[in-house]
Formats: sequence, structure tokens, C-alpha cells
Amino acid sequence: FRFSRRPDIGDKIRVSFEFFPPKTDEMEARLWETVKRLEPLKPNFVSVTYGAGGSTRERTARTVRRILNETGIPAAAHLTCVGATREEVDAVIRDYFATGIKRFVALRGDPASGVGQAYTPHPGGYQNGAELVSGLKAIADFDISVAAYPEKHPESPDFATDIEMLKRKVDNGAKRAITQFFFDNDLYERYVERVRRAGIYIPIVPGIQPVHNFRQVANFASRAGAHVPAWLAERFEGLDNDPQTHMLVASAVAAEQVLDLVERGVGDFHFYTMNRSDLVFAICHMIGIRAHQASEVPVSQPNTGSAAA
Ligand code: FAD
Repeated sequence: FRFSRRPDIGDKIRVSFEFFPPKTDEMEARLWETVKRLEPLKPNFVSVTYGAGGSTRERTARTVRRILNETGIPAAAHLTCVGATREEVDAVIRDYFATGIKRFVALRGDPASGVGQAYTPHPGGYQNGAELVSGLKAIADFDISVAAYPEKHPESPDFATDIEMLKRKVDNGAKRAITQFFFDNDLYERYVERVRRAGIYIPIVPGIQPVHNFRQVANFASRAGAHVPAWLAERFEGLDNDPQTHMLVASAVAAEQVLDLVERGVGDFHFYTMNRSDLVFAICHMIGIRAHQASEVPVSQPNTGSAAA
């Protein structure tokens, strides 16, 4: 197994996790279990998404604040500028800032009518992700991540236009880019080469989507312009009603992708967790990232407290 020769690899890898804001108490409890399970992996940061058109503004802020207050993890709020004036977006940024939120993932967002529909910026609003980065920086020196697209954004006519937009985001103050998910690592590598040739040197962190549900992921991929290779569809063929095998295959697929990226020299990974810890925890384990607290207590001998008495 060609990766087994690098046992120290986990020391060099940094991970981040993305969550979405829960809608119900039950979903919140589940998210919190996930956060607690992933916290000992010491992520570089976590982020919380922003619903289309700002529909989750309060919930996004509440979730980020709870993570900041109850864990030691740096947490970022996603923010979009769809359907709002600059003043309205600035007011949201100031509210967030006043409650201690200093990291953002700055995005244009998708039209309220849905992903893939034509986008019309608000006439008095920030027109795109790059302008939103400027708006944020005008308010404070935030840590800002932006989106990048290894297969180019579906609205970009070509890679040059797409990368030009990324360059504007970087020139305006973005510190790192997180990619749309992809399954073909060659596409990512070629994209990073193009980005570097354009004089962009910030980290281009691959966004990894563990396939909890192949149909859902394939559906989202087709709207987001991400290619689903035939070999991937074949791996999940016939597993719709076999969750256990689906999960094992998903774990193998994601581990294979991440380990291959490690071999290619990638050191940062952003996981789209879907608020679940199972696959992400397993993948992190495989790349050598260990839960810090767990190392103190051998798994085979539960700590009953008697030794300390
Ligand atoms: P931009 O960078 O502004 O534009 C995307 C592309 O469109 C550009 O590359 C450019 O080529 C083209 N383009 C835009 N404007 C012009 C123009 N005037 N002229 C020519 N070309 C133009 N969405 C949410 O609603 N909430 C979230 O929390 C969220 N989180 C995300 C996190 C990540 C890591 C990623 C990758 C995406 C996320 N999205 C989220 C989705 C994102 O909002 C959509 O992909 C959106 O369509 C584009 O946002 P952007 O910031 O990349 O846009």
C-alpha cells in the first residue's frame, strides 16, 4: 500500500470542517455531537454556511458564536451578498463583528430562484465575491476565505475569466480559497497550476465532499458544474438501499482521494461534513490526524477512575 511509508504525515496536515446551521433542536443536538467528536482533531478552523439570500443569518451567527464560546476552535461565518444593499450587508458584518466573529467565508451566493438560474446582482449591493471581500476589509481586518472552482464556475465563460475573479478576491484581501468539491484530482492539480501561473499564491484548499448519499451528491454536482466520473457512479451502483456498504465504499473513496492529494503535496483539507462526523473522522484518522484527548486513554481499557483513586 503505497501510502503506508509515511506514518508521520498527520503532523503536516491541517484540516477544517464545514457545517450548516441547524433548523431544529434535534438537528442542533446532532450538530453539537459532531462538533464535540471532531474538536479533538484540532481543526485549523471550522465554518458555518449562510442560507440562500441570508435566510439563516441569525442561525449562522448563533452557531458560530456557540462554537467560539464553547470550544477552542476558530470559527468562520459564511456570508453572501445576494439580494441585499451594501448597507444591509455591512450592518450584518458589523453585528457579527460586535459579537466577536472575525473570520468570514465571503461569497456572492446563488440567485434566490436556485443554483444554476441567471444571477442578477442587487443594484445597490456588492456585485460579486471580490467586492464583498473589499466591503469586509473596509470594516475590519478580518480573516477572509473565498470560493474557487477547479472545474470553473458554471457562469464563467472560460478559466481565464474565472481565475481573474479569484485574483480580484485575493487582491482585495482574501487569505485562502476553498474549492468547490471535485472527484478528479488531476482537475484540481491543473487548476492550481493555472492559478499559480496567474500570480496567485494563497492556499487553494481542496473542498472534500464525503459521499454520504451518492444520489444527492450527484444531483448537487450537476447543478454546481462538478463532474461526477463514471468510475464513481459505478462504485455506488446498486447501493441505494444498502446504507452500510454505501458508507464503507464512501469511506474508501474519500480516503483514496485525500491520500492521493497528500501524495501530490497537498497539506490543507476542508471537509463538507453535512453535520456528520462519521466519515470525516475516519478519513482524518487515515491521514494520521489523531484525537488529542483520546491518546491518553487506551481504547481497550475504559477509564473507570480507579487508577486515579
Ligand atoms: P464570484 O466569485 O463573485 O463569481 C463566481 C464566478 O462567476 C466568477 O468566477 C466569475 O467568472 C463569474 N462572474 C461573476 N460575476 C461576473 C461578472 N460581473 N462578469 C463576468 N463573470 C462574472 N452559497 C451560499 O449561498 N451560502 C454559503 O454558505 C456558501 N458557501 C460556499 C462555500 C464554498 C467553499 C463554495 C465553493 C461555495 C459556497 N457557496 C455558498 C456557493 C456560492 O455562493 C456559489 O458558487 C455562487 O454561485 C458563486 O459565489 P462566488 O463567491 O464564488 O462568486
